[in-house]
Amino acid sequence: MSSGTKNVSLILERSVLERISNANKINISGFLTAHRGRLVRLPVSIDQYLKWTSSNWPTRLEMLNEYTRGSFSMGTRQRSRNDFSSKFSISTKVCKKKGVISNTTLDEMLAFVEESGPEGHSEKGALFSYKKDGDVYEFELSHDSIMGGEKDETDVPDGKKGTNRCVEMCAGGHTHPAGEYIAQKVAYAWPSHDDCDAFLDKVISKTSFLHFVFTKEGVYIMSLHPNAIKKGSKFIRGSKKRTGAYRFALPTTKHGMKPSEYISKLKAIPKDEKVLNVDFRSYKDRRPFIFYYPTEGDSCDI
Ligand SMILES: [Zn+2]
Repeated sequence: MSSGTKNVSLILERSVLERISNANKINISGFLTAHRGRLVRLPVSIDQYLKWTSSNWPTRLEMLNEYTRGSFSMGTRQRSRNDFSSKFSISTKVCKKKGVISNTTLDEMLAFVEESGPEGHSEKGALFSYKKDGDVYEFELSHDSIMGGEKDETDVPDGKKGTNRCVEMCAGGHTHPAGEYIAQKVAYAWPSHDDCDAFLDKVISKTSFLHFVFTKEGVYIMSLHPNAIKKGSKFIRGSKKRTGAYRFALPTTKHGMKPSEYISKLKAIPKDEKVLNVDFRSYKDRRPFIFYYPTEGDSCDI
């Protein structure tokens, strides 16, 4: 901390908190607490906060693990991760579909990418609804689901859990805002290592199976690689160590690695080690992308 800076913590009694929140319809988006020697933001509602204040420490630790599950970030900060129970099991049958993002949604997301928030940080996370048009799924921004990010990381809402995988609102996404390109001095911003891990966390918690990263240069589309689905839950659960292969430094100029070269590098990862299927489309490129997910029971219905 630099001298002259004062950090003030405000501790409110629950009665005061309830009164403020009720009277002003304040949307309390999160709380800070110390966890393993660092401050973490809990993206919780007031109800969850009240549960927190009335819980003992073993319960709080469980809540912390739940709330600090990987978030999406352009940076590479290490966050505490949930160590998932052995309960996670998915089907090893692969569903393969084609998708496009609607023009309206592409325009809206590009506007979010280009808008500069406070200190250039304006990362957004959201869910995308889908409807089938012929054999192609068309994705549309769900406006109610938009969440603003804190600093250079953001949270993406969860879809609905099924038995084997996510079953509703399973496509999430987040932006890499233009301000972050300036702050981090980069020309392109493909998915970060944290993005890959945060997506895996969502797959394991069965709250997503598809993720879009909206950037200045276009959209990166992430789903599970068929290899990972066929190998099953144990392989996916142990895949945090494999996502390191998906990490490539962001170029500082457009003469550096290009998005198409990044995709080629990912294609070169040995098939047996492939965890994610990542594709890229510029905003003008309307070719459908392919995405994969496991069946729910025997069903590919989404
Ligand atoms: Zn990101």
